[in-house]
Amino acid sequence: MERDFDVIVVGGGGAGLCAAIEAQGAGASVMVLEADKHVGGATLQSGGVFYAAGTSVQKARGIQDTADAMYEYVMNLNQWEFSPAILRLLCDHGPEAIDWLIGHGAEFPPEWLMCSGVDSVPRGHPSRGGAGSVGETIVRAFEARGIETAVATRVESLIVEDGRVVGVRAAGAELRAGAVVVTTGGFGNSREMLERYWPSMAYHGDRVYAVHWHAPFILGDGLRMGEEVGANIVGFDTGLPLPASGAAGRVVEPFLPPWIVLVNREGRRFMDETVTYSVSGYIINSQTDRRAFAIFDEPTLATASVDTAYSDPYHSELAATTWDHQTIRNRIEKGEVFVADSIDALARKLGVDPISLGVTVENYNADCDRGIDGEFLKQAERRFAVRKAPFYAIEVRASVIGWTSCGPEIDSQCRVLDKHQRRIPGLFAAGEVVGAVQGKRYAGGGLSIANAVILGRLAGQNAARAAAQ
Ligand SMILES: Cc1cc2nc3c(=O)[nH]c(=O)nc-3n(C[C@H](O)[C@H](O)[C@H](O)COP(=O)(O)OP(=O)(O)OC[C@H]3O[C@@H](n4cnc5c(N)ncnc54)[C@H](O)[C@@H]3O)c2cc1C
Repeated sequence: MERDFDVIVVGGGGAGLCAAIEAQGAGASVMVLEADKHVGGATLQSGGVFYAAGTSVQKARGIQDTADAMYEYVMNLNQWEFSPAILRLLCDHGPEAIDWLIGHGAEFPPEWLMCSGVDSVPRGHPSRGGAGSVGETIVRAFEARGIETAVATRVESLIVEDGRVVGVRAAGAELRAGAVVVTTGGFGNSREMLERYWPSMAYHGDRVYAVHWHAPFILGDGLRMGEEVGANIVGFDTGLPLPASGAAGRVVEPFLPPWIVLVNREGRRFMDETVTYSVSGYIINSQTDRRAFAIFDEPTLATASVDTAYSDPYHSELAATTWDHQTIRNRIEKGEVFVADSIDALARKLGVDPISLGVTVENYNADCDRGIDGEFLKQAERRFAVRKAPFYAIEVRASVIGWTSCGPEIDSQCRVLDKHQRRIPGLFAAGEVVGAVQGKRYAGGGLSIANAVILGRLAGQNAARAAAQ
């Protein structure tokens, strides 16, 4: 078969650039096709946290951890509804991927390690340099290799001959290769894709947006192209929903402030308000009408909301301070915050059960006085009683997309599978485009970049091998 390149990579984000680096390192001639005007994708916007266990960074801080322990945690969190083979890759290759990034200039300060999921071992590795720093490291490593790249080149479809993917169509041309790696990222910026593949997120209507908005081609092209050539699409209606206060504009605000009392339509609390975003969005979405209300009073607004340190535990400098004092005052002026002189009146404005809300607030206040949270065990210093009018409420929904996880099914060599579990020859995929990489719950902040780097590198190695055969 005539070919222009051994390996074509569709999408020059984190997974794509890692795939290209590895494929070239394995001796393949490589072409990267990127729809945007520059490479980097959502990876270049990301918070730069990497989730991994048993790493050199953990060891430097004296933390005992293993890939097996991570595997057990993620499997149990997902009630074993997670591909064991894929999870094994994410666990086993984490330490090596962290060292690879460090080798290319990334820095993961051991003192910044944190529990970014609901596990008890710090596996979230924030990177120095804040937002985009891991992406910048990958882009630098890629650019140093002089790999052929065409930007502003959106791939339209895959070319299939005799059941084998042999190339791509883009910009009116055909390019042929021994293997194609699809790394087009998620589909959070496509309303149509959301309605089809993540309807419970589309439910939130106009409030929905993806944190990927700066990466305009996160539109699900890879999912569509995979489907066109018969790929099995898995992970329907899953992803990472993040809490949102409905503040005007698109903002990243995954951490709720500790000083609110979050209640559902029944007027009841339903979680520790400080629980990590890896689970909070799912809990909010399982409440009646998939919504909740943050309740607080005037003294809390005046004092507690001034401290916004809770909003950026990753040192990412990404998180918006939508719950800070001035923003809320401005929103009150614009009529975007529910305000009432009594809890009963507030409940009626919200359409929340007034008796229950009254009991919730009474119990919460009594717990604040006693220095405990009898129901949800929130830390004492993070609780503020709700006593003095005016009383306020802001509607909270889990309507922001952190990542999408519906897409083509792959095997442990990143080969795309069809509906009969057969490999589609010549086709590989990695990164956010791949389906069912996260299970029902997000293991912890950093798993998406881990997925892009680890599966991207493996896909590149395997594609180069396949192209050489
Ligand atoms: C603001 C923000 C913060 C985040 N923070 C974190 C974090 O701290 N930790 C973490 O783990 N995850 C985080 N994530 C998620 C994580 O960054 C992504 O899941 C991950 O980087 C996706 O990598 P990828 O390579 O699969 O896709 P991307 O990096 O998005 O790359 C996909 C590329 O494909 C291109 N493309 C799409 N369609 C085509 C086509 N038809 N032809 C050619 N090119 C195409 C796109 O333009 C894009 O460049 C964050 C995301 C955002 C946006």
